[in-house]
Amino acid sequence: MKKFSCHSCAGCCHGPIALTLKEAKYQFYDDFPLVVAFVVSDVRNVPVEKDKSRYAKGMKKFTRDTIGFYDKTEDERKIVIHPQILTLVPPDSPCIHLNELNRCSIYNEKPSVCTLYPVRIDTPTSFIDEGLNRERNQAYEGLAHIPCKGWDEETNVIFKNGEPTDTRVIPLLNKREGEAKETRDLLKGFYFHIKNLEDINEKIMRYSELNIETNQFIQLPYGLFVKWLIDNNKIHPVSGQRLIDTQVSLIKSAANENKKRTDTIGNTFNSIYRMHLSQIS
Ligand code: SF4
Ligand code: SF4
Repeated sequence: MKKFSCHSCAGCCHGPIALTLKEAKYQFYDDFPLVVAFVVSDVRNVPVEKDKSRYAKGMKKFTRDTIGFYDKTEDERKIVIHPQILTLVPPDSPCIHLNELNRCSIYNEKPSVCTLYPVRIDTPTSFIDEGLNRERNQAYEGLAHIPCKGWDEETNVIFKNGEPTDTRVIPLLNKREGEAKETRDLLKGFYFHIKNLEDINEKIMRYSELNIETNQFIQLPYGLFVKWLIDNNKIHPVSGQRLIDTQVSLIKSAANENKKRTDTIGNTFNSIYRMHLSQIS
């Protein structure tokens, strides 16, 4: 049995949150500044990769099938990549939708990661119980940047007899898993598109160094990913409408002029993307 009771401290509304591509495209394109992040780890730094338990096997399968993928560094080390679309918020800063009363201003339409909490979005449906254990342990060990106090008072039963007590959790988690897989597949394509660029390759090597304690991630403007989606026909103008040619050439010339992918370029992409998002299906 798991018990949990929210204290409304808004700790979980600080720092970046992960969106699916569908959420980024249709719901929140105008609401959050976004980045694409690739967490890169040598598999020997990842506890679950070395573990032989049923849970570890399930998590590895979930990584392979839904939320991550494997690659090799140029010196042949096996690495695991977890790609994400994240809101661009410093770790201790509040989400832009947190109002002055410490409440969510988009409560009825908030992202799935917020609706599901404390159920972990990186845990498959069949491992909800273990995922809740991990979340509770993180709170007790103070590993989260602002630890959740929800486990302290233990008033509401949220998991009993192997099932969440809220019947909406499983369908919502399954729906999110579907969207997470779609997001992963496209971000994986983008990763293999950029991984051989000199500065990206250098970060992959450095961030996945053996025995480093914390995972670091490669961060790129979301607009660069969108440009790649457009260039590769992964997103299309809706019927009868096209992205305005001058805007497309503006994106391309910005890319050509500055191959270092600076924030300026990212902001250009992001703003152009936002301006034309209503025309993209
Ligand atoms: S951090 Fe925990 S206790 Fe605080 S608002 Fe979030 S869920 Fe509730
Ligand atoms: S969208 Fe709402 S619930 Fe989610 S982090 Fe922002 S303020 Fe919190």
